[in-house]
Amino acid sequence: MDFDWSEPTEARYQEIVAFARTALNDDVVSRDREGRFSRDFWDACGRFGVQSMAVPARYAPDFEEVDFLTAIRAMEGLGYGCEDTGLTFALSAHMWTVTLPIVRFGSEEQKQRFLPRLADGSWIGAHAVTETEAGSDAFAMKTTAERRDGGYVLSGEKRLVTLAPIADLALVFATTDPSLGQWGITAFLVERETPGLETSPVREKMGLRTVPLGEVQLRDCFVPDSNRLGKEGAGAAIAHHSLVIERCSILASQLGAMQRQLDKTIEYAKTRRQFGRPIGKFQSVANRIVDMRLRLESARLLLYKAAWLVTQGKPATLESALLKLHVSESFVSSSLDAIRTFGGNGYLTEWGIERDLRDAVGGILYAGTSDIQRSVVARLLGL
Ligand SMILES: Cc1cc2nc3c(=O)[nH]c(=O)nc-3n(C[C@H](O)[C@H](O)[C@H](O)COP(=O)(O)OP(=O)(O)OC[C@H]3O[C@@H](n4cnc5c(N)ncnc54)[C@H](O)[C@@H]3O)c2cc1C
Repeated sequence: MDFDWSEPTEARYQEIVAFARTALNDDVVSRDREGRFSRDFWDACGRFGVQSMAVPARYAPDFEEVDFLTAIRAMEGLGYGCEDTGLTFALSAHMWTVTLPIVRFGSEEQKQRFLPRLADGSWIGAHAVTETEAGSDAFAMKTTAERRDGGYVLSGEKRLVTLAPIADLALVFATTDPSLGQWGITAFLVERETPGLETSPVREKMGLRTVPLGEVQLRDCFVPDSNRLGKEGAGAAIAHHSLVIERCSILASQLGAMQRQLDKTIEYAKTRRQFGRPIGKFQSVANRIVDMRLRLESARLLLYKAAWLVTQGKPATLESALLKLHVSESFVSSSLDAIRTFGGNGYLTEWGIERDLRDAVGGILYAGTSDIQRSVVARLLGL
């Protein structure tokens, strides 16, 4: 076993940390307060080559192609350098739940049409699965896709969709035959200007406030055959594939955020003095920080293993569920520990510590709640 990263991977990590620190951190507190997405920062990421990391070089010739492990390590660096977890979450959702499915399952024509614009950030993608009656039970979806000459007519409504209010392209899942259950689900690439597609205003939410989230309405929305992703009935397989990748890759930037949070907490515990000593010298404070480090370290090992399995083409359903469960729950626990360590300052918005907790809670819900991850693992253990 070799736990060292290659030189190019480590160089990419250092570059992206430096980029994120200098280019993406202005106004985070006020953007969070106002729930404001920064298109400028999104575009800066596009120019730097963040979004293109999900795309092979032949569809993004202006950018350097990187392997999946390098992309994961780079996303970790992005999360470390960028204090706006909403932005890093938005980038991950765009890259791994919209761009990557097109890379894996798109026709050559679809790849040429969509990937260059998704890679340079000029287009924003949204992944639309969830519905009112189909949350954890995603494949109970009611959105229908009826066959018509040369395409399908989509009808239904998706909710809680990251980036929906500003997306140029929505990857929408709908059923062509409800009696077939998950085998009737098909994926469609629906462009913003398609008649019958509408999106809601931005929904206000607890955390990840800098990324807009909302509904996608489809009213007799005609989508040509050329915009069907994969075969009819392949939607569940496509969604499952992106879930495994998403569980690895979305959480990479969270891991970086946890490292940043730990560094800040250690620094504070060394400098804040009470009873004549740095608070880090009190065992109960130190133990909390040790627990933060333990969570981070174990989460990191799970991430790298799951990402490695993906690169080897090996099954990673169990590992990615364990990873999703552990990283997301760890981020919540460590965010609380950071607030406890910062005391009253941790509760003040201006210190940027409480924001992590609000952002972290999103992680235990999206891409399958913690209960669902546990049930995936239990099933794979034969229970
Ligand atoms: C920040 C954020 C971003 C999101 N982005 C997207 C997106 O881009 N695209 C998209 O399609 N969706 C998105 N979602 C939706 C997300 O995938 C769903 O919220 C999630 O799948 C849970 O569905 P639900 O909210 O309907 O909760 P429910 O399924 O109603 O669950 C409610 C509770 O019941 C529990 N529960 C349900 N079923 C079981 C079971 N079988 N066993 C044990 N417990 C169970 C759940 O764990 C939870 O505690 C996002 C959500 C959030 C919070």
